[in-house]
Parts: sequence; structure tokens; C-alpha cells
Amino acid sequence: MAMSWERARVKIALVLVLLATVVAVVLIVQPFAGSGAAWKGARADPSRLERLVRGLVGLGPRDGEPGQARAADWIRAQLAGLPVQEQRYSARGGTYRNLFVRLGPSDERRVVIGAHYDARGPHPGADDNASGTAALIELARMLASRPPSVAVELAFYSNEESGLLGSAAHAADARGALAMISLEMLGCFDQPQRFPFAPLKLLYPAHGDYIVVVGRFQDFALVRSIKRALRGNGAAVESIDAPEAVPGVGNSDHRSFWQKGVRAAMVTDTAWYRNPRYHTARDTPETLDYARMARIVDGIAAWASTF
Ligand SMILES: [Zn+2]
Repeated sequence: MAMSWERARVKIALVLVLLATVVAVVLIVQPFAGSGAAWKGARADPSRLERLVRGLVGLGPRDGEPGQARAADWIRAQLAGLPVQEQRYSARGGTYRNLFVRLGPSDERRVVIGAHYDARGPHPGADDNASGTAALIELARMLASRPPSVAVELAFYSNEESGLLGSAAHAADARGALAMISLEMLGCFDQPQRFPFAPLKLLYPAHGDYIVVVGRFQDFALVRSIKRALRGNGAAVESIDAPEAVPGVGNSDHRSFWQKGVRAAMVTDTAWYRNPRYHTARDTPETLDYARMARIVDGIAAWASTF
């Protein structure tokens, strides 16, 4: 006996809802990204990462002009032997600096990997963002010993916490930028994971022991390539492609490049969604997991060298 039209329509509607849900989950979570190639040079060193984080935090506050100047001088000293360029700009009644290291061919066409070295208020900012800064210094050492075939620009940004001022000054001339990655908090892996929306609990692990690649839907291919590279180098990794309006998705220097039409993504431990020490006096070096950080640095080196 033939199914009634009513029942057939309900069935078709259910199948369509199910299909739409599956497509949405695949677009948001990218569950089948696979693994990329392993980094072929010397691997990132956890003890060096720890020393760098402790060194930067040990300088004192990094919010105002004197603190950020101290930090910039210290970063230059860590990069001794590499060609470092500076960009100075006026803001907040003072002069601030971005630092750059270019590796690989001298070409305007380049990928940008950035991390902010300033910190919120008087706080130590070990995870936010001495961790990303240390990763970038280690990346400079690794990529200098094995230059990538596409130009890579490592960018140390000032004033992220004051409205992305450093990265905005850099992105003001984004000509030739093929893609941008912001390294934003790479060290917290010992906490429960929280989410901007409850349904995301169904899509991601409950314990926050993984790094997350964050982009918009139009950054899908970029997010996928970073995720593959991280996974191929031993990092536990998840990803999310979501609209910029989702709280947190655009909260770092990658947004300065989105605003210039450059595809960009953030690599992060998810900040306040995981780290209870975020923007407090308790964001200290001993709370970070340097072994996991090192595998992330390897993954980013692999990504940059196979772009
Ligand atoms: Zn930050």
C-alpha cells in the first residue's frame, strides 16, 4: 500500500534536516582533515620555550609604553643573528613597535605568522601571550635553519590588548599577504573546556587538552591546512569555522587581516573558554604545558614550509 502524502512529506523533511545537520557539523568541525607532513628540521625544544616565557614574563608588566619597549628590546636580543625589521607607530600618547623577521625568498608574496607580546594590565601574561611570543621566537630559529620555499614573515605585535593596534598598523599594507596565522595563547591544557554555546559541547571534547584552529567559513581551506599540519606533528587539535560574530572568534590579531580581505586564522587554547587564569595575576609560567606547546610549534613550522 502506498505511503500517504502526509507521511512521505514528514519523512522527506526529517531526512533534509538530518542532511543539513551533517553538512553543518562537517563545515564547523572539519572532522576529516587528516594529517600533514612532519617538520623535517630540528624540533621545537620545550625547555627553550619555557626559558623564553620566563624571560619575557620576568621583564615585568607589558601594557604601557615602557613595558612594551623593554619587551621589544628583549625580543630583538633573542633574535640575535637574524635580520629584524621594525615598524614604529604612534598610539595611546606614545610610540610603539612591531618587530618582523622575514625568512625564505625575498618576495612580497608571503605568509604572515604573528603573536602579540603585550599583556593585559599589570598581569604576567604567560599564556596570554608570552606563549605565542616564545613560539614565534622558536619558529624563527627553526625556519632560519631550514628556509621555507614561500616567504614567511614572523610578526611580533604590540598593543593587541588595546584594540589590535599593532597588527592593524602592520595590516594597513597587506599587499602580498597570502594568509595570516595569529598564535594566541598556546599553553593551557589542564582544564575543562567551556563553550560559547551549549550545543558545541556535543561536537568537542569536554577536557581542554587540545589546541584549536579558529577561522570563518571562508577560511575553511586555510583552517584545514593548519589542522592537518598540527596533527601531523603530534598535536591534539580541533578546529572551528564559525561566523565572526561568535564571541571569541575574532578576538586576536588575525582580525586585522580579515578587515583587509586576507584569509586568516587563530591557533589558540581558547583563552577564557578554558584558562581560569586569563587576564589575572595567576597567568604565570609554571601553569603552561611546554611539551604540548613544542608540538604545536613543530606543526606551524611544517605548515609554513609546505605552504
Ligand atoms: Zn592575547
